[in-house]
Amino acid sequence: MTTATQNSTQALLQRTAKLTLSVPVQCTLFLLLTATTLWTVYFSSYAPAHNALHETRHSTLGVGCH
Ligand SMILES: [Zn+2]
Repeated sequence: MTTATQNSTQALLQRTAKLTLSVPVQCTLFLLLTATTLWTVYFSSYAPAHNALHETRHSTLGVGCH
């Protein structure tokens, strides 16, 4: 590998790290993970989880239950 290629690869890795560690990307990933977790928990058809979160589901604005 030539020095120019190594520098190019290193620059690409630095740009990628800078982008992925930026605050907007971290906020987006956090919100997506939170929404996915809530969606999974709220609408689980597994009876113990469904029953345990029934009151929470009713008290959360915008989440339908039955
Ligand atoms: Zn209900």
